[in-house]
Amino acid sequence: MKIAIFPGSFDPFTNGHANIVDRGLKLFDKVVIAIGHNTVKKRMFDVSSISNKIKKLYKDQNVEVVIYNELTVELCKKHNAEYILRGLRNTTDFEYENTIYNVNRDTGKIETVFMITDPSVAYISSTIVRELCKFDGDVSKYVPFSLTDDML
Ligand code: ADP
Repeated sequence: MKIAIFPGSFDPFTNGHANIVDRGLKLFDKVVIAIGHNTVKKRMFDVSSISNKIKKLYKDQNVEVVIYNELTVELCKKHNAEYILRGLRNTTDFEYENTIYNVNRDTGKIETVFMITDPSVAYISSTIVRELCKFDGDVSKYVPFSLTDDML
């Protein structure tokens, strides 16, 4: 069984992330969406609320959602995942991912599969969604579920 971990902050999960998951499901038998959470880094959206919404979204598919606070390679071992799935939007993503990729290979012999973002969602980022939310902007085009005040 080919299992991939898709790690990220998902603060919040966006249509850009969903695009990577949907395409990942065509390559892997199962995708584990792993929401990285540590108490030091302040989030805008509650991690459990985001996790529950993502679970609902993929309830009929081979997707598991977990919250984690450890090295991604350790998480891979726990889930018998040999692959990490990541999206690449631009050269900034590339520079960052290049370093992480090599460290993950050194430490866990984990292969990372990169997917170039689909042009239709390339401009969507969690940062821009958070900015819009701060000023009560409409984010329904960018997020695959509704974001409500009780999730903050
Ligand atoms: P991180 O803090 O680890 O970068 P994010 O939640 O911002 O976490 O992103 C998780 C993954 O999703 C990263 O690989 C990122 O490049 C990818 N990603 C984010 N937005 C998009 C998008 N619009 N299209 C494709 N991939 C994306």
